[in-house]
Amino acid sequence: MSELTGIGIGRGIAAGPVRCMPDPLPLPTDDPFTGDVDAAVEKTAAAMGVVATWLKERGAHIGGEAQAILEAQALMAGDPALVKDVATRIANGSTPERAVYEAFLSFQKLLEGMGGHMAERATDLADVSQRVRAELMGVSVPGVPESDAPFILVAHDLAPADTALLDFTKVLALVTRDGGPTSHTAILARAKSIPAIVGVTGADGLTDGTLVVVDAGSSTVRVGVDDAAVAAAAAKREEWLNAAKAPITDGALKDGHLVPLMANLGSPAEAAAAVELGAEGVGLFRTEFLFLDSATAPTVEQQEAQYTELLKAFPGKKVVARVLDAGADKPLAFLNDAQEENPALGLRGLRALRAKESILRDQLTALANAQNKTTAHLWVMAPMVSDAQETDYFVALAKELGIKVAGVMAEVPSLALVAEQVLETADFVSIGTNDLTQYTMAADRMLGSVASFQDPWHPAVLRLIKQLGEAGAAAGKPVGLCGEAAADPDLAIVLVGLGVTTLSMTPAALADVRASMLTVTLEEAKARAARALNGRTAAEACKLGTQ
Ligand code: PEP
Ligand code: MG
Repeated sequence: MSELTGIGIGRGIAAGPVRCMPDPLPLPTDDPFTGDVDAAVEKTAAAMGVVATWLKERGAHIGGEAQAILEAQALMAGDPALVKDVATRIANGSTPERAVYEAFLSFQKLLEGMGGHMAERATDLADVSQRVRAELMGVSVPGVPESDAPFILVAHDLAPADTALLDFTKVLALVTRDGGPTSHTAILARAKSIPAIVGVTGADGLTDGTLVVVDAGSSTVRVGVDDAAVAAAAAKREEWLNAAKAPITDGALKDGHLVPLMANLGSPAEAAAAVELGAEGVGLFRTEFLFLDSATAPTVEQQEAQYTELLKAFPGKKVVARVLDAGADKPLAFLNDAQEENPALGLRGLRALRAKESILRDQLTALANAQNKTTAHLWVMAPMVSDAQETDYFVALAKELGIKVAGVMAEVPSLALVAEQVLETADFVSIGTNDLTQYTMAADRMLGSVASFQDPWHPAVLRLIKQLGEAGAAAGKPVGLCGEAAADPDLAIVLVGLGVTTLSMTPAALADVRASMLTVTLEEAKARAARALNGRTAAEACKLGTQ
């Protein structure tokens, strides 16, 4: 038996056979085609037919929402206009693979140009194109493998498109070579409550069928395990699944010290599920969903309707809304400058809103209107705030427009360093560890090659959080935390020990964190935090902070 290590997401455990995700197909070269044109046309049309039939059958087998998506893809694969276009391209001298690639790409561009629902379907064409080319080449279809038996999915990394059709009754756990704790894979794993280990060195060496145990709690992948190890993992898995079913209580430590556990939400539609999982309010409402797909900012009325819908789901509870956070990993054409060389260090978050203040004013007005119509306690905060001067600007504007409680996110190290100045005007601070880690460690959160630096356990990040916690305690103001770090049950204890007063996370993580909180007193949490601060690396801090 051997062991691989990476960054475990959550506490889940699973055992099963590996299925590797094949690499994407290489781009077909545009060398001239010298073969038999008629035979090639026939073979390509047949391949398109095979793919269309397979997609249709697969859709019928899976059912639900996926069926509609797969049936739409089947129609694309068998579209007579596409079959004809491919034939013409082969007749004009393209290889069958190149003809398929180009014909699908030009159809994709056409759909994108139409906008709306058509444009949303355009990316599916790239997937269908790959399937047809794989059929022509007689190789495995790239993307998520299909299987009727449960398996552990091993991949370099997972893109959103890969995961849309993942069948979570079959995928027991995720193991990726790349990615850090804020990667798409990690976020997906938390949202779906499945064990995952990201950034696993050596994941490339795993092969289909190998039996492994994926233990996210110990961040290990045990390879080539025997039956006894599989049985032990199954027993531990049962315990983990039962813990998730424990009664829902308010977040509290063993000694009764309350730590409200809140939800991170991306749209009002997610509210009901969060309430069901025991969210005591919303610690981060990301408002980008209203803006990202539009060419212009939504009107005050459109925004007000959405905010009111969300607030109504939390009567009498706290809801922290973040004003638009555009730029870097969330670019917006009408707000951000496309010319920036380092967008993460550019005009993003509050900086971008300040440059186009009317958008910020409209959003704050819509939020204030919604606040006055419901019984929820609305708090509003700004992202990417650097110092007290920016804090003063935002808090004053929010109050001028009728917001009752206004604060800032701590995502830039400079803000943590002057936290006591910031808290002179801010009503609260909420720590965004995803960005705070990125900026403290100077490691792009989107870049797999520096994922190992993207670890909020790093003592440098913990020390900034301590500074924020102390400033909050001195000012008598709340310091919440809403980055992915809050969803790590062990780190959550250390964060509370550092002075964090509320934790906000993806709702699926609430049960694990709630159970973890109940295992320590405040004194014990503080002792763990004190030990973790002395680690020389993230791994060492984690080891010290979990003892
Ligand atoms: C963060 O940076 O930690 C955060 C919560 O914001 P986002 O992930 O949306 O950038
Ligand atoms: Mg952020």
